[in-house]
Amino acid sequence: PPEQLPLDPAKKTLVILGSGWGSVSLLKKLDTEDYNVVVISPRNFFLFTPLLPSCTTGTIEHRSIMEPLRHIIRHKKRAVKYYEAEATKIDVDRRVVKINDFSDVKGNVSETEVPFDYLVVGVGAENATFGIPGVKEHACFLKEIGDAQQIRKKVMDCIETATFKDQTEEEKDRLLHMVVVGGGPTGIEFAAELQDFFEEDLRKWVPDIADRFKVTLVEALPNVLPMFSKALIDYTEKTFKDENISVRTKTMVKKVTDKNIEVEATQADGSKVKESINYGLLVWATGNAVRGVVRDLMGQLPAQKNSRRGLAVNDYLVVEGTDGIWALGDCSATKYAPTAQVASQQGNFLARLFNSMAKTQAVEEELRSLDARLQASTDEAEKSLLAAEINAKGRSLSKVKQLSPFQYSHQGSLAYIGADRAVADLNWFGGAISSATGGELTYLFWRSAYVSMVFSLRNRILVLTDWLKTKAFGRDVSRE
Ligand code: FAD
Ligand code: NAD
Repeated sequence: PPEQLPLDPAKKTLVILGSGWGSVSLLKKLDTEDYNVVVISPRNFFLFTPLLPSCTTGTIEHRSIMEPLRHIIRHKKRAVKYYEAEATKIDVDRRVVKINDFSDVKGNVSETEVPFDYLVVGVGAENATFGIPGVKEHACFLKEIGDAQQIRKKVMDCIETATFKDQTEEEKDRLLHMVVVGGGPTGIEFAAELQDFFEEDLRKWVPDIADRFKVTLVEALPNVLPMFSKALIDYTEKTFKDENISVRTKTMVKKVTDKNIEVEATQADGSKVKESINYGLLVWATGNAVRGVVRDLMGQLPAQKNSRRGLAVNDYLVVEGTDGIWALGDCSATKYAPTAQVASQQGNFLARLFNSMAKTQAVEEELRSLDARLQASTDEAEKSLLAAEINAKGRSLSKVKQLSPFQYSHQGSLAYIGADRAVADLNWFGGAISSATGGELTYLFWRSAYVSMVFSLRNRILVLTDWLKTKAFGRDVSRE
C-alpha cells in the first residue's frame, strides 16, 4: 500500500516535482503552514545553472553553485517532506504520483506512490538530440553538475593523451580539437570558458599544446545567439574571431561517431557540402526536449493533443485539461523562452497563488461559520453585529480572490563571451528603456549580477572565493 504521510487532514496536500529554478522559487516563497508540502526530486540540491559553464574548466568549483535542498526546507515555518526520487508517472485519474529511487543505495522499498490534492510539475527538460545517430553515445551534454565534471575531466584527458609519448601528429590535432554543437547561449558560454582556460592556464602549464589546441563552434542557423540583437550577435562573432574560436554557422551536424562528426554545410550559393570533422571532445548544446514523464502526462490529456514543446498551461499555469495540476519552467510550453528568469518568476507567481488560495479557503470557512451563527441567532443586536462582520469578511474575500494572471517581466538577456567580456540586452523600468551593451564593463556587471543572484550568502562567498582563487593561482589542471 502507498505510504501514509504524516499529514494534517485539515490541510490539502501539495506535491511539488523538481528542485530547479521553478520549484525552488515556489518553495522559497510558499507559506508551508497552509499545506502538507511534499517535494520530490532526484536531485537533493538546487543548481545555479548560469554559472555551470564556469564549472567545466574549474573557474568555479561545482559545489559552490549547489544549494542543498535540506538547507532550504529547514527554514520553512512548517516541515516539508522531501523524497529523493524521480516521478515516473503522474496518474491524473487516481491523483497519485508514482516515484522511483534510482540512486545507488537502495532500501527495501525503492518504488511507491504519493497521493496529491494539488500538484506542481517543475521537472525541467532533457537534452534535445533530434534522434541524430551517435549523439547520446559519444557527446557530452551541459545541463547537470555531473555533465560539467565529466567535461572537465575529459578536457584534461584529451590534453594528457595528446602529449603521450610518440603520439602521431594527426592524432594530437584530433585530441586537441574541442567541438561545441549549438550556438545558443549554452554553447557560446562554454566555448568562451574553454578558450579562456587555454589562454590563461593551459598555454602556460602545457606549452606543448600551444599551437594545436582549437575550439570550434558549429551552428545550423546563419548566426549564433538568435535571441540577442543584431549588434550583439555581430559583436559576439567578432570577439570569438579575435579569441581564435572558429565559428561554423549554416553547418548542421547529421551524424556523430566516437572520433568525428559528419556535417552538412550550406555554401554562399545555397549548395550543400558534406564534411567530416575530427574531435577529441564533443559538447552537445542544442536546446531542450520533453521528458518522458511529461510526455506520458500529455498522452493522458486530450487537451494536450496539439502541444509539442511541453505542457500547455493557461494564464494561471494550470495544465490544460486538468484540475489542480500546475506546470512551470522548462517542462511547460508558453510564449516565453525556457529560461531561469521565466521559471523563477512563474515559481514566485505560484507561491502567491497558493498563499492566496489558502487565505481564500480560510475566509470562506469563517464566512460559513458566521452565517450558521447568524441563522441560529435570535438576538437582534448580535444579528446585526454578525451581519456587519460577514460584510467585512466578504469584502476581504473578494480582495484575496483577485489574483491577476501570470505576467512575465523580461529583465534582459546576458551571456559571457570570453576574454572578460559579456553581452547584455537589458530592459530597464519594466521595458520602458532597453540597452544593448557588450564589453568588459558588461562583464563586471554580469559578474555582480550573478553574485547577487546566487541564492544563499554561503554560495555567494563560495563563488567569490573561487573567482579570486582562479585569478591568483590559475585553474587547477589535475585530472580527477
Ligand atoms: P530545472 O532547473 O532544470 O529543474 C528541473 C528539476 O526537476 C531538477 O531538480 C531535476 O532534478 C528535477 N527532475 C527531473 N526529472 C524529474 C522527475 N522525473 N521527477 C521529479 N523531478 C525531476 N537561464 C537564464 O535565464 N539565464 C542564464 O544565464 C541561464 N544559463 C544557463 C546555463 C546552462 C548551462 C543551462 C543548461 C541553462 C541555463 N539557463 C539559463 C536556462 C535555465 O537553467 C532553465 O531555463 C531553468 O533551469 C529551468 O528551470 P526549471 O525549474 O524548469 O528546470
Ligand atoms: P538553444 O535552443 O538556445 O540553442 C540551440 C542551438 O543549437 C540553436 O541555435 C540551433 O539552431 C542549434 N542546433 C540544433 N540542432 C543542430 C545541429 N544538428 N547542428 C548544429 N546546430 C544545431 O539552446 P541552449 O543554448 O542550450 O539554451 C536553452 C535555453 O536556456 C534557452 O532558452 C536559453 O535562452 C537558456 N539559456 C540562457 C543562458 C543565458 O541567458 N546566459 C545560458 C544558457 C541557456
